[in-house]
Amino acid sequence: MSYKNFPMVSKVVFGRGSFNQLNEILAPKRLSMNAPFIYLIDDVFKNNQWLTSRIPLAYDDKIVFISTKEEPKTSQVDELVEGIILTTKELPSGIIGIGGGSVLDLAKAVSIMLTNEGEAKDYQGWDLVKNAAVYHVGIPTISGTGAEVSRTTVLLGPDKKLGINSDFTPFDQVILDSELTKGVPTDQWFYTGMDCYIHCIESLKGTYLNTFSETYGTMALELCKEIFLDNNLTAIESEEKLMMASWHGGMSIAYSQVGVAHAMSYPLAYLLGIKHGVGNCIVFDHLEEFYPEGVKLFKTMKKKHNITIPQGICADLSDEDFDKMINIALNLVPLWENALGKNWKQIITPKKLKELYQKM
Ligand code: NAD
Ligand code: ZN
Repeated sequence: MSYKNFPMVSKVVFGRGSFNQLNEILAPKRLSMNAPFIYLIDDVFKNNQWLTSRIPLAYDDKIVFISTKEEPKTSQVDELVEGIILTTKELPSGIIGIGGGSVLDLAKAVSIMLTNEGEAKDYQGWDLVKNAAVYHVGIPTISGTGAEVSRTTVLLGPDKKLGINSDFTPFDQVILDSELTKGVPTDQWFYTGMDCYIHCIESLKGTYLNTFSETYGTMALELCKEIFLDNNLTAIESEEKLMMASWHGGMSIAYSQVGVAHAMSYPLAYLLGIKHGVGNCIVFDHLEEFYPEGVKLFKTMKKKHNITIPQGICADLSDEDFDKMINIALNLVPLWENALGKNWKQIITPKKLKELYQKM
């Protein structure tokens, strides 16, 4: 048996207001006056002086605002990289992503593609990246995906939604300042928070479970229960705890895998453009059979926060559409194997998947 040897995020700052330390963190990393820092920032912050006035721009540093209406695409990464190469005198000193999973993933992918030939789609998969990425920093503004800590950057490519999984993907530096998450709308807070909850359930109930994953997953799950079920937390406590739940949930799946909800929600993103957090919720709501206790608790949390999950999203799909989604889902072999064991194909047939999708 050969065990995986994973890199982790090299440096992390945690604390309310730690975003103010950005300049002191970045300054030693500036390679030259001609090598700028490029900030990729969720465009929800475009007119947000509270955040943007604290970005320490100097020399040729630049802010690029990113729309997160759609999930990140390989073509979007290629365009951003081309834009950076054409407008900078030297390779950037660093790429800084400020936003949710979408922007964090874009920052990781752009930093990789600045030093690797070809197109981003060529690197979707495991360990295809050859050269170390440009220094990259992740600053989450919404918590749950674990993208700040993971070894992957999930992208929609021309023919699949798949991560660039590599030793060069994790951030060199992460800044966890929970104050940045204070403006997240309730529905989105729930959907992205549930991504974390579902990571925990899928990891803890999976056949790949080991003590490394279990300890992180258990911790994250306890935090999720406090955040989404207790009435005693202040807003600040809740924001800080969700930030750490996201981190631990991400660490839990690093050494195991996700499961049925992720395998079924990836095709919803690919074919219907349904975003990850809400997509996972749509699917998980119907997975009692696989995760009875996890789904029961999910429904309790949903009710407590008065969250509506979109219904009938598969109502108008053709047989061809169903076949496409089923094919994409069934190709995610490690996810099924983790969820259901080596004989997963006997449990999850195309017919079974179609029946499940038809409920959504
Ligand atoms: P997101 O990044 O798309 O953000 C969701 C919404 O919240 C957006 O509309 C955004 O503008 C808004 N938002 C973010 N911060 C805000 C703030 N402080 N105030 C107000 N609004 C704010 O969503 P997400 O759920 O964080 O990330 C989803 C993406 O993450 C997907 O593309 C998914 O594939 C990816 N993902 C990656 C990993 C990984 O390990 N790399 C893991 C899970 C998910
Ligand atoms: Zn997820």
